[in-house]
Amino acid sequence: RTGRLEVVAGPMFAGKTEELVRRVHRARIARRAVVVVAHELDTRSGPGRVASHSGLEVASATAAAAGEIPALVAPGTELLAVDEAQFFGPELVEVAVGLADAGLVVVVAGLAVTFDGRPFSPLPELMAVAESVTKLTAVCTVCGRDAAYHVRLDDDGAGDALTPVAGHVGGTESYQARCRAHRST
Ligand code: ADP
Ligand code: MG
Repeated sequence: RTGRLEVVAGPMFAGKTEELVRRVHRARIARRAVVVVAHELDTRSGPGRVASHSGLEVASATAAAAGEIPALVAPGTELLAVDEAQFFGPELVEVAVGLADAGLVVVVAGLAVTFDGRPFSPLPELMAVAESVTKLTAVCTVCGRDAAYHVRLDDDGAGDALTPVAGHVGGTESYQARCRAHRST
């Protein structure tokens, strides 16, 4: 069997989508049958495509839940790419493993951490059972070091926009990549 699970994980701005798109392009050059799936809630990309912060994009099918993914995988599909895996929740683990067991190369990209620095299911679980894990870092917006985290900034006009927020909901949220030293300052 050729089936395998490949995980691409990291914080926001780490280049996860760029890496996913790179693998999709390479599979297409190799004439593999590819299906790309995005979550309905992936609003930055917009419907029908997966897009990186730098503007790379690829057409995709859309699913509202992990259970919908197998039906999007046409017979003969050799590579399945799923972006923003954190949107699909724990249910994605069984689906991804099932499709890899069935012989597909399954590439899953998503956030390894929440904006408050905790492991973000299902990426940790997917990393545990994958043949390959690519852990990417972004660039810390404060000091330029490798950033394994990202923070959510309160940009509603009240307060210092450079101070990460903990539980606040509302306002216009924006996110920044941060290193270990700057994830809470
Ligand atoms: P991800 O899917 O991990 O959020 P993308 O693949 O969409 O990341 O975007 C990666 C691109 O984001 C980089 O190539 C770079 O052009 C841009 N970028 C913007 N801010 C940062 C940052 N702080 N660190 C690294 N890349 C950044
Ligand atoms: Mg992305």
